[in-house]
Amino acid sequence: MSYASQQVENIIKLNPGEPEFHQAVKEILLSIEDFLERNPIYKENAVLERLAEPDRQIKFRVAWRDDAGNIRVNRGYRVQFNNAIGPYKGGLRFHPSVNLSVIKFLGFEQIFKNAITGLPIGGGKGGSDFDPKGKSDNEIMSFCQSFITELYRYIGENTDVPAGDIGVGAKEVGYMFGQYKRLKNVFTGTFTGKGIDFGGSLVRKEATGYGLLYILEELLQSKNMDLYGMKVSISGAGNVALYAAEKAISLGAKVVTMSDSGGWIYDKDGIDLSIMKEIKEVKKERIKSYAQVKKGSKYYEGRFDWSAECNAALPCATQNELDETGVKNLIKNKVSAVAEGANMPTTLDAMHLLRENNIPFIPSKAANAGGVSVSALEMSQNSMRVNWSDTQVDSRLREIMKNIFNLISQTAEQNGDKGNYLKGANIAGFKKVADAVIAQGVV
Ligand code: NDP
Repeated sequence: MSYASQQVENIIKLNPGEPEFHQAVKEILLSIEDFLERNPIYKENAVLERLAEPDRQIKFRVAWRDDAGNIRVNRGYRVQFNNAIGPYKGGLRFHPSVNLSVIKFLGFEQIFKNAITGLPIGGGKGGSDFDPKGKSDNEIMSFCQSFITELYRYIGENTDVPAGDIGVGAKEVGYMFGQYKRLKNVFTGTFTGKGIDFGGSLVRKEATGYGLLYILEELLQSKNMDLYGMKVSISGAGNVALYAAEKAISLGAKVVTMSDSGGWIYDKDGIDLSIMKEIKEVKKERIKSYAQVKKGSKYYEGRFDWSAECNAALPCATQNELDETGVKNLIKNKVSAVAEGANMPTTLDAMHLLRENNIPFIPSKAANAGGVSVSALEMSQNSMRVNWSDTQVDSRLREIMKNIFNLISQTAEQNGDKGNYLKGANIAGFKKVADAVIAQGVV
């Protein structure tokens, strides 16, 4: 049995009841199986055993009071996975589906994603099963303050720097930063995704979505294709999806779908982003409202099935939202590329189907790395006490995404699997972190 297969079995046995974490471990380890067999140094140094065990896992009670005066209790998590190449870095997710398995899958992926950005950041992730949907600002603030009252002792600008994710945007980061500052009496860049007036970086809000389109452009160019005039199918209607749509439209593509957890919109004339942003960012309504306002668009209730005709598909909502059925629909419509805006949105079976059908696929750890990259740029600006212009940040982002694409395509080719960007990303990310782990001795 190969070292990778042995360790997949071992990790599953050691971490029962964590299906999302098992899925992420399988996705990474099995794609680098041959590389590990050719390089026994990693087995000799028990690198997989060490990488799969987080440096530490913090799980805590978050008690807070709602507007009616009731005491509510949620669970908080922070998994500090690996800091071999820099301080732990990764977002906080507030969503009812959050549990230790979800946070561990996100944290494990984050280690390798952060490594391929070329920036000095380690991997971590956290969050809570708190649902900000339908809560008042006062309730959200009360929750965030209680969350940080426990977490503050474990984080810091050189230790662990959290950011946003599902359910955590600038507002929540602002409340958490405020409470952190109050408890520690320091003004440091311990959070990224902050408001522009207190240390936030320009283009951070847009970075994940824009970065996704920049890497998609690189991929298409390498195949002598162009985004201009393409139909793009996007899922989700949150931070990543909205700014992916914005950049796609500005590059001349037509965005034909968007979704939320209630249903999805098909707009054959192309989504009108000003209407969508008004609904999602300002009024915070369900996506259904779009079809009531925009003529010619249609709303479908329930899970998005990727059945709309498109040239490129960008899952930008959540994990496991693109399954085998979805990929079959995309193949029927002759899709030319799939790039993941969300983390692990494609199931393992769906990934295999894409590969069997030679559909270029850029995995999340490369495709959505723009967000954490600009977060790292925010950390640099905070340390230097400077603010870069939006053009400066955007051009750095573009360059980082181009470098990531070159790195993952060259690594795939050097490892005998040209065009396998999943393998390229996993080997490149693993090698960087694993070599640092070995160099730092048995710790
Ligand atoms: P948001 O909370 O802003 O938006 C999430 C979107 O996905 C919403 O439209 C939401 O719909 C939908 N969604 C969430 N859960 C489900 C579900 N179970 N089924 C169907 N739809 C769902 O989050 P982000 O845009 O920030 O994050 C989206 C993805 O991108 C996540 O996987 C995240 O980890 C990843 N990511 C985000 C980064 C960032 O910078 N924000 C960076 C890198 C990755 P509804 O409102 O109805 O819940």
